[in-house]
Amino acid sequence: MNITASVATPSSEKTRTLHDSLLAKLRRAHLLGTVSGLLGWDEQVNLPPDSADQRAEQMALVAELQHAAATDPEIGRILEQLEKTASSGKAELGPDQGVNIREARRDYDRATRLPATLVSEKARLTSAAYHAWAGARAGNDFAAFAPFLEKHIDLARREAEALGWGDRPYDYAIDKHDPGMTSERTAALFDELKTGLVPLVRALDASPAAKAGAEAETRLRNFDVKAQQEFLTEVTTAMGFNYRRGRIDVSLHPFCEGAGADIRMTTRFHADKPLDALFSAIHETGHGLYEQGLPLPLQGTPLGQAAGMAVHESQSRLWENQVARSRAFWRHFEPRYRGLFSQQLEGFSSDDLYRAVNTVSPTLIRVEADEVHYNLHILLRFDLERRLFSGALAVRDLPEAWRGLSQELLGLVPETDSVGVLQDIHWSGGAFGYFPSYCLGNMIAAQLWETAQANVSGLQADFSRGDFSRLLGWLRENVHTQGRRFTALELVRHVSGEELSPAPLLAYLKNRYASLWL
Ligand code: ZN
Repeated sequence: MNITASVATPSSEKTRTLHDSLLAKLRRAHLLGTVSGLLGWDEQVNLPPDSADQRAEQMALVAELQHAAATDPEIGRILEQLEKTASSGKAELGPDQGVNIREARRDYDRATRLPATLVSEKARLTSAAYHAWAGARAGNDFAAFAPFLEKHIDLARREAEALGWGDRPYDYAIDKHDPGMTSERTAALFDELKTGLVPLVRALDASPAAKAGAEAETRLRNFDVKAQQEFLTEVTTAMGFNYRRGRIDVSLHPFCEGAGADIRMTTRFHADKPLDALFSAIHETGHGLYEQGLPLPLQGTPLGQAAGMAVHESQSRLWENQVARSRAFWRHFEPRYRGLFSQQLEGFSSDDLYRAVNTVSPTLIRVEADEVHYNLHILLRFDLERRLFSGALAVRDLPEAWRGLSQELLGLVPETDSVGVLQDIHWSGGAFGYFPSYCLGNMIAAQLWETAQANVSGLQADFSRGDFSRLLGWLRENVHTQGRRFTALELVRHVSGEELSPAPLLAYLKNRYASLWL
């Protein structure tokens, strides 16, 4: 049946019907994805120890159904007709429909153009590479992991090739997480950031006050977990998280899962690391607020979905850092915090507490890094990934390159590969081009924060009263409700009127941390 020919000159009503059936098909695939997400959340939060095999089968089945729904050939046929209409210049399709068609095409091509053999090869490799990585990290044996990493890079090249990015495989890897972003643009932003950030980090690393501050933080001990939970629920509720459409539970690694009317967040509690649970929860709540702010009636369609990893991360970081590490925030919450933990905070002045919340300390481990050092950990990984993909760096030379860059950027050299090149899980899953999103997210957060403060006067005073509604409203209007209308770069330009730049992040970091510790 040749449907394309039968609608060579589609009427408006036909176009509308086609667009509606496209959205219905996208929603179906998305809904199946949310079932997968829920099963995954449950696996990490609730799963009894001997139920893993059954869960793996359930997840495989839903993944299969989801893939079939997302690759339904009917989607391809509908898209072809709608694209024909759009290019005919008959003005039957508005800008929203244009976004839907563009983004549906992107997803459909990604889902259908990869050969099934490549997909299963990657799944097999990822499973084997994970075990090889875990063993190599435990035994400090990079050579045992190297062949798996080489295969992953080869697969990533072939994947890029299949999608038409054969000449720019690393750009493809980045674009996968952040549409429209390239390695060249990222490199230019990161170089500028590095120039401003390294001197600040060196000064902070040499600061006796910062060192004393990091030691003082370790005096925060014996924080009852139930009371911690109570406090973070109050904080996240004040931030605007709607607990009638989401919840927070405990898992080994904090995450945020879900979409639309059901957002599942997790954190983890440690009696002697109370700020860890709190700030993890605030971070995930930033993700959750973004998901809750996407237009619910458009759920499952491009305009009801997040704009990419960097924008998502900008939302979590903005709440975690710019908001929750501010003086104004603690002006409001400190009395309640003291009420719950009067004994534990004895001898801790307001200034001590504020400093504990803004501790900086150099570390070799990315996931333990504070918000100043964190960016350098990302710059290091980006530089290495880029050279691996350009062919300038061979996998076998990676540990040495890591040590060199670690010295240059962090001023620290890992004594073993276990705490150096082998520390992250990402590469064992072939997740290249993913790390840059974290740092781009920090830049976007700082630029949005600068713009929000210029557009909405008195935000700090709001925070001092525990009122976050005007900030959330601004984010809803400018970021959340846009869905996938803009790429990250377009969104920043649209909202701030400026190109994305590291300048706001540098200014923010200097303002907060130099004044505190230097
Ligand atoms: Zn995050």
